[in-house]
Amino acid sequence: MRERENRLSACRPLAIRRCRDGGIEIDWSDGTQSVYSPQFLRDACPCATCREKRTVPTETNPLQVLQPSDVVEMAVSAMEPVGQYAYKIFFSDGHDSGIYTLEYLHELG
Ligand SMILES: [Zn+2]
Repeated sequence: MRERENRLSACRPLAIRRCRDGGIEIDWSDGTQSVYSPQFLRDACPCATCREKRTVPTETNPLQVLQPSDVVEMAVSAMEPVGQYAYKIFFSDGHDSGIYTLEYLHELG
C-alpha cells in the first residue's frame, strides 16, 4: 500500500493544458510530459460501457450504426477532478462516464 502511495505521488500533474487538436497535455512532477489526442483518450475510456465495447470485435457486428463518436469531431470538452487522484473527462460526443486516474493517465502517456 505504501509503495502504491509513493508511486502515485511521484506522478502528480503540475500543469494540464488543452491542445489545439482538442486533446490535452500534462506536465508531470517527474519531469516528463504526456500528450494525448482526444481520440486516443476516448478509445482508452475506462468506464464499464467502453470496456465492454472494446471486448466485442467489430467484424462480428454487421449491424453497426454510426455512433455520435463517429460523426462528431472528437475533443476533450472539460476535465473535472475526482478526489485527489483522478479526473473525469468530458468528450465532445457527450460521453463523460470515464474516470481517469492519474496513474492510468501517466501509464497511457
Ligand atoms: Zn466510456
